[in-house]
Amino acid sequence: MSRMALNEADRIVTLFTPAYGKYRVIAKGARRPTSRLGPHLEYFTHARLQMARGRELDVVTGAETLRPHMLLRTDLTAFGHASHMAEVVLRLTEERQENAAVYHLLVKSLALLDEAVDPFAVTRHFELAVMTLLGYRPELYRCIECGRDLEAEPNPFVASRGGFLCPVCRHRTTGSPMLSINAQKYLRTLDRHGLGAAVRLRVPDGLRDELEAFTSSYLRHIAERDFHSLRVWHAVTDGPGTSPPSAGASPPADRPAPGHAPG
Ligand SMILES: [Zn+2]
Repeated sequence: MSRMALNEADRIVTLFTPAYGKYRVIAKGARRPTSRLGPHLEYFTHARLQMARGRELDVVTGAETLRPHMLLRTDLTAFGHASHMAEVVLRLTEERQENAAVYHLLVKSLALLDEAVDPFAVTRHFELAVMTLLGYRPELYRCIECGRDLEAEPNPFVASRGGFLCPVCRHRTTGSPMLSINAQKYLRTLDRHGLGAAVRLRVPDGLRDELEAFTSSYLRHIAERDFHSLRVWHAVTDGPGTSPPSAGASPPADRPAPGHAPG
């Protein structure tokens, strides 16, 4: 969720809800240390909320935490990956547009991160699933030009067409990044066999970097903008040399948390 100070006492909070999708609400008094609502509106908290109609934004009148997801606020790696998921949902969905499938995916993925399941696998699974749910499923099996089955060889991925070109059709693209055989295999494993199979794979660092760069670049193409959360996490955890240390001091601006709206 993003939390924006409205005035001395109140906050505007961005929720992600099953019935209304991304949903901005006012939480009165939530900035006061004694607030009854405040603890239920922490980043990444899964909560059930009562709302009242407001003039522009609806107002939170009651809240109950279902899962606090404490690890997501205390462990830097879990926090970085949860922030990324929230950022993806925030950027790729519209305000007050119902998307229960994305909601359930986000709830499940945050819960897995909170249970300390491998953040790399959980996050790649989330990304592939969210792309599919929102209509950007990458074609992982056939050449997007001629339709032939892709062979086990490095192939270029054309983001604007959402798929790979085979060696015969490769000349139709310039500058599309090549994806290694193992990176393509990992994506197909996720797609065919799900997260359970992916967490059992041994993924060396180089392959992790390649897959993260691939999904980041495709998401950037889909959203037409950059995603910051994983970059901030790398800047903080990978040590000096990649970007200025101050980058780690400012958390990403917007993080929706799953929440229940009325009804
Ligand atoms: Zn082809």
